[in-house]
Amino acid sequence: MELPAILGGKPVREDKIYYGRQWISEKDIEAVREVLEGPFITCGPKVKEAEERLASYTGAKHAVVVNSGTSALHCACIAAGIKEGDEVITTPITFAASANCVLYCGAKPVFADINPETYNIDPASIRAHITDRTRAVIAVDFTGQVVQADEIRAICDEFGLVFIEDAAHSIGSSYNGKMVGNIADMTCFSFHPVKTVTAGEGGAILTNNDEYYKKLVLAHTHGITHDEDEMEGAPHEGPWYYEQISLGYNYRMTDFQAALLISQLDRIDEFVARRKKIVAAYDEAFKDVPGIIVQKNIPESDTSRHLYIIRLDLDKLTCTRREFFDAMSAENVQCQVHYVPVYWFPHYRHLGYEKGLCPNAEEVYKGIMSIPLYPAMTDKDIEDTIAAVKKLAAYYRK
Ligand SMILES: *Cc1c(COP(=O)(O)O)cnc(C)c1O
Repeated sequence: MELPAILGGKPVREDKIYYGRQWISEKDIEAVREVLEGPFITCGPKVKEAEERLASYTGAKHAVVVNSGTSALHCACIAAGIKEGDEVITTPITFAASANCVLYCGAKPVFADINPETYNIDPASIRAHITDRTRAVIAVDFTGQVVQADEIRAICDEFGLVFIEDAAHSIGSSYNGKMVGNIADMTCFSFHPVKTVTAGEGGAILTNNDEYYKKLVLAHTHGITHDEDEMEGAPHEGPWYYEQISLGYNYRMTDFQAALLISQLDRIDEFVARRKKIVAAYDEAFKDVPGIIVQKNIPESDTSRHLYIIRLDLDKLTCTRREFFDAMSAENVQCQVHYVPVYWFPHYRHLGYEKGLCPNAEEVYKGIMSIPLYPAMTDKDIEDTIAAVKKLAAYYRK
């Protein structure tokens, strides 16, 4: 049997491939240059245009672009009225920002467990964690697969909760024909370079609700309004006059970032199609490989996958996850693990969270790793990645 590179065999590929990467075109660069050479590098027309593009792409009534996905989540919590003493339910298998935004508001993140096959938050566990302090659910479309939105909607309606969708992974996905952005009460995107489209850093919140929209606009620009109808009637001093009517932040995106985002959105259909094709190739290649478990697809979600996760069935393999991960690196296929359960981090431990809270999440975490997935991957990159996984699964098979 072929020896893994880590044990002295020949690596599957010579140059390193990474789990995710942006794809910037000449046109993207030209779009940014144009703005940099013009009069408005921030607070100009490109931000408005990006918002219109996101609203029309998703079918949502309103979009507010901001400087990160994390800011988007914070703004959504502010618009939802989250405050000290409140609880917000989210998943532990996510980037920390999904829970940190609750802490920013002085409220308490409560972790519901995941479904062990889809890895998304389990609606039954959401229900089990509701108290009279619960105000909202932040459901993460993990890897791009949409959460069980109908069940979560029904729970939120029953208990009067705000349904916030952390869609950092899922722009371009849809649920029963509805685009992500037009499903939850508020939906948050991220435009970090590893995500489906990028603005360098950036994010957006989408909503169909006029009241949330007003609050989101205020939250991301200092709580300042120029709209006379919103002012409280302090003496209007002249054309320069504006009022700060709540406490907000500077979470604005620049115009050159917005230009990059618009240019990336011109190619989103191409990006999504390529991602789906790679995922189909992986699903087909791994479906019968002993020791490798693939993420279950739910039929309601037409998924633009941001991450492709293989889960090692460690009972069927002689290696640990760490050994498999290091062996993949030695084959020059650099993986990553998404994610360490959020409440395991020291910051959360110091707040009183303990291991064992979400057994499914902790069990799934033990075996997962993300393999390369990004639209600029060549067919050879895909073949090499498949070859590396199969080679190691065969070598380490019990
Ligand atoms: C990337 C990400 C965020 C944060 O987005 P930033 O743009 O990096 O601030 C939030 N939630 C999830 C699930 C993410 O993957």
